[in-house]
Amino acid sequence: MKDKLKQIREKALASIESSEGLNGLNDVRVAFLGKKGELTAVLKGMKDVSPEERPLVGQMVNETRAAIEQKLEETKKKMEALELEHKLKKEVIDVTLPAKKNRVGHGHPNTIALEEVERIFVGMGYEVVEGPEVEYDYYNFEALNIPANHPAKDEQDTFYINDKIVLRTQTSPVQVRVMEQGKLPIRMIAPGRVFRADEVDATHSPSFHQIEGLVIDKGVTFADLKGTLQEFAKELFGPETKVKFRPHHFPFTEPSAEVDVTCFKCGGKGCRFCKGEGWIEILGCGMVHPHVLEMSGIDPKEYSGFAFGVGLERIALLKYEIDDMRLLYENDDRFLKQF
Ligand SMILES: [Zn+2]
Repeated sequence: MKDKLKQIREKALASIESSEGLNGLNDVRVAFLGKKGELTAVLKGMKDVSPEERPLVGQMVNETRAAIEQKLEETKKKMEALELEHKLKKEVIDVTLPAKKNRVGHGHPNTIALEEVERIFVGMGYEVVEGPEVEYDYYNFEALNIPANHPAKDEQDTFYINDKIVLRTQTSPVQVRVMEQGKLPIRMIAPGRVFRADEVDATHSPSFHQIEGLVIDKGVTFADLKGTLQEFAKELFGPETKVKFRPHHFPFTEPSAEVDVTCFKCGGKGCRFCKGEGWIEILGCGMVHPHVLEMSGIDPKEYSGFAFGVGLERIALLKYEIDDMRLLYENDDRFLKQF
């Protein structure tokens, strides 16, 4: 019995020494001290020991158990310390490493240009109004004095949804919708996406943006139109900017004009940017055609007004000196983050 206990003790201590990890250690505990463990088996055999020897053997069993438990506990502590150390090493943070930078987004050149234009007109008392991109043929053409057989309809080469519905080719239908409501006077700009069946190149896109303006009140004259656009050009391109009105034709205005501004690069002397002209075309405008007023239920004898339309991309391209419109739509991060 004594030899047996000695043997168990040596075997247990050796197993503890060679055990791997906390799980291995637990296996050793179960193998010797568990219900079916080797030391427990010895205890069960106590009934065969003579009564005189029992106290001595009992004491030896207790000593063996204590020795094994003590060794188990020591080893467990060592292993836990090692594990903690290992974990700390693995999770170490090098505070001297450069931090990961969160990239902050910003406005698209179109958005920046639009906000600038809106700021100027809101400052002059205009309201910003939006309308549907999918529009009735009536609002897009007819109500703007463009009848079914008018060449302008061909020219614009519209995307038709069906006979009566189109993707709007201009934001002017928003103006018609506002005029129809009959709340006068009107002082509004209508920015938004418009569509034409154009091939994509450096200056064309099937989808782009327009900002159209409309003013209707009693006694509005061409002088008001000129003054307004002069002010707009100065605000947008600088206080030295001059404007020039060239006669033109639009179906919904009469008289109509195209507006050039002095080149903001050379001040009008002529340079590469303005192709030696000294002037840059920026928008179209005119006095609202009496027929357009009539169709929207406004009496042209009492009221008059002016309208203008400018391409948002045109403003963005000029303002940021971008030479290819496609850059605005390609979403190339390297391009966009310059603004
Ligand atoms: Zn120039």
